[in-house]
Amino acid sequence: MKAIDQVTVTFTSRSANEGFARACAACFAAQLDPTLDEVADIKTVSEAVTNAIVHAYPDRLGQIAMRLRLFDGGVLEIQVKDAGVGIPDVEQARTPLFTTGGEERSGMGFTIMESFMDGLKVRSQTGRATAVTMRKR
Ligand code: ATP
Ligand code: MG
Repeated sequence: MKAIDQVTVTFTSRSANEGFARACAACFAAQLDPTLDEVADIKTVSEAVTNAIVHAYPDRLGQIAMRLRLFDGGVLEIQVKDAGVGIPDVEQARTPLFTTGGEERSGMGFTIMESFMDGLKVRSQTGRATAVTMRKR
């Protein structure tokens, strides 16, 4: 399927950019006239951005690319990609409460995205990259 609109933003893995990415996704979605609830749902994309900042690049700064695409029929797709450490076991990582982040993390990021978006796909190559793609109708 061909996107009718597409924007990609690339930014450094600094926590200041969590809010930037969230606002950016909401701005892009504005053309669909979303409800406030839908905007709140879309903003859960920041879970994926936080993951890239915290987990993908644990001890260095790296680049994060967020691609926003719009398809016919009002389908929004958001992909967050990093070139970080990767996820050895994606299925395990998606399990509620699973975390490698210790006390500070609750292991609920993927579960939150899954419940507020209409689809979530995670692809990862250990030691190379992770791409999280979510869709919202
Ligand atoms: P929370 O999001 O509740 O603060 P969390 O980040 O640990 O905690 P999830 O967002 O569900 O929970 O992620 C689960 C686990 O998946 C993480 O602990 C981490 O091990 C792994 N992970 C997630 N995203 C990435 C990524 N981009 N690169 C490497 N590992 C990741
Ligand atoms: Mg998380």
